[in-house]
Amino acid sequence: MASTPLIPLHPATSPVRLAPNGKRFFIWTIGCQMNEADSAKVAAMLQEVGYRRTEDETAADIVVLNSCVVRQAAEDKVAGKLNALAKLKRAKPEVPLVLTGCMVTNQQEKLRERFPHVDLFFDPSDFNQLQRVVPELADLEDDLAQLPHYYAPEAQGGRSGVTAFVPIIYGCNFLCSYCIVPYRRGKETSRPMADIVREVTHLVDGGVREVTLLGQTVNAYGHDLSDGRGLADLLRAVDAIPGLERLRFLTSHPKYMSDEIIDTMAELRTTCEHMNLPVQAGDDEVLRRMRRTYTRDLWRERIAYTRGKMPGVTIATDVIVGFPGETEAQFLQTYDLLQAVACDKVHLAMYSPRPGTLSARWADDIPHEEKQRRHQELEQLQERLCTERNARRLGDTEEILVEGMAKGRWTGRTRGNTLVHFDDERDVLGKLVDVRITRTTPWFLMGEPVGEPH
Ligand code: SF4
Repeated sequence: MASTPLIPLHPATSPVRLAPNGKRFFIWTIGCQMNEADSAKVAAMLQEVGYRRTEDETAADIVVLNSCVVRQAAEDKVAGKLNALAKLKRAKPEVPLVLTGCMVTNQQEKLRERFPHVDLFFDPSDFNQLQRVVPELADLEDDLAQLPHYYAPEAQGGRSGVTAFVPIIYGCNFLCSYCIVPYRRGKETSRPMADIVREVTHLVDGGVREVTLLGQTVNAYGHDLSDGRGLADLLRAVDAIPGLERLRFLTSHPKYMSDEIIDTMAELRTTCEHMNLPVQAGDDEVLRRMRRTYTRDLWRERIAYTRGKMPGVTIATDVIVGFPGETEAQFLQTYDLLQAVACDKVHLAMYSPRPGTLSARWADDIPHEEKQRRHQELEQLQERLCTERNARRLGDTEEILVEGMAKGRWTGRTRGNTLVHFDDERDVLGKLVDVRITRTTPWFLMGEPVGEPH
């Protein structure tokens, strides 16, 4: 039941529902883009009912922690933060302390015992629960699905940022042996396509020019929906939104990277020529024990198909080194695969056992020094490959979407997701600028603007 007539709900530039009530919220977030998007939604909800943000937890009228458990270290960090907040809670018992994120799912009873000073635990994206400590939110219940996962601080004068994350599917049906996500985020649950399109439309109306669609297995989108539509259909629907310039999506699973999705990426105007496709290891026996459900050849073939459809497409992947039982020969399979495929970006991680997962029951038998050596080998390989690749881009002109300033220079990314820095007297925030590359490094490019920003 809405209390006041609705103005289009919270496009970044429209007035929020309730005037500032002098109250402040503090949100602390660790983990992936999904968590960032969920925290942005919580911020938008509180802003909607008159709260304003503070970066000082001691000045807040509500404190929200958004947790991650993908590694034991992440969970320990959250526990440390919660313990540190016990003192503040004793000093200000009236200030609600809230925990959400992957640490909460299926763990509420245990957490209540462990952290009795926490007032509310709510599962990731179960935003309705927040009204139990912020009664004003009850008013918002009917419109909650429409509220974007986006927060535009007042300081920006309501002017939105340039890019936004939009979760489209929660959870994962895979059971990779090293991963805790399925146990904490549950089964794949796709958001209705109409909600997503409405949310992106709001964001674009508010000035956002690039949207990244998010999911742990984003290309499983729609598998649980009855209308038979999938990610390719959603890309088409979002691509059609007037004013959107760029569209990205992550994180994909090789098993679901269909010809239809790749063909659609190649066809649409806004879908950027960049693919994030984790491989995790280059040896089939290791992939089998990781329960990844594909072979190195399938992953390689998907990359080749993508490069055939979109010449110049850039590829990012994820790799874990030092998985239990990984022999030198199996590690060299990963090395050889990365050398042959030459990705633009490789997110490297050293294996660490995650209690509650299948692989945590196996001996973590690769010594830490050896994990470090393998990690370094791949890092050096990647640096060499990116140095060679980027050197060939000297003198090219790239279209950059300017996201902000870094070290006094404008910064943004190409459609291929490469970071570019350049100088420009003009205010080009949020603009598309053609930049001629004048200097290259393995990790970013530098250049000078040519022509008029648009
Ligand atoms: S695909 Fe595997 S690694 Fe990714 S979230 Fe699902 S279980 Fe975890």
